[in-house]
Amino acid sequence: MSLETVPKDQRNLRACLLCSLVKTFEQFQYDGCDNCEEYLHLKNNRDGVYDCTSSNFDGMIAMMGPEDSWVAKWQRIGRFVPGCYAISVTGRLPPGIVRDLKSKGVLYRSRDTSQKT
Ligand SMILES: [Zn+2]
Repeated sequence: MSLETVPKDQRNLRACLLCSLVKTFEQFQYDGCDNCEEYLHLKNNRDGVYDCTSSNFDGMIAMMGPEDSWVAKWQRIGRFVPGCYAISVTGRLPPGIVRDLKSKGVLYRSRDTSQKT
């Protein structure tokens, strides 16, 4: 089993609103999002990190082998990089980013499972 539940005990952690990847604010700011940098451009972009990631998320899973993980399939993150992912992320991407994603053919699905829409 390549999955384990990770306690949310570190401060300053944020989850990407597009792919649920969890990293620290600094990691997002220095490296961008490993999955979405192409779309979100978070590298060296403080405002972007604030807009496109959320510190309000629930549940964290460590994904080591995305190809054969049932959680990855459940979370639809099978093609994403191994790492820690949030199960639910509260917040929404800014409308401008969502429009941008749409124009690139990326369907944005809110990761906020606490709300029923
Ligand atoms: Zn991301």
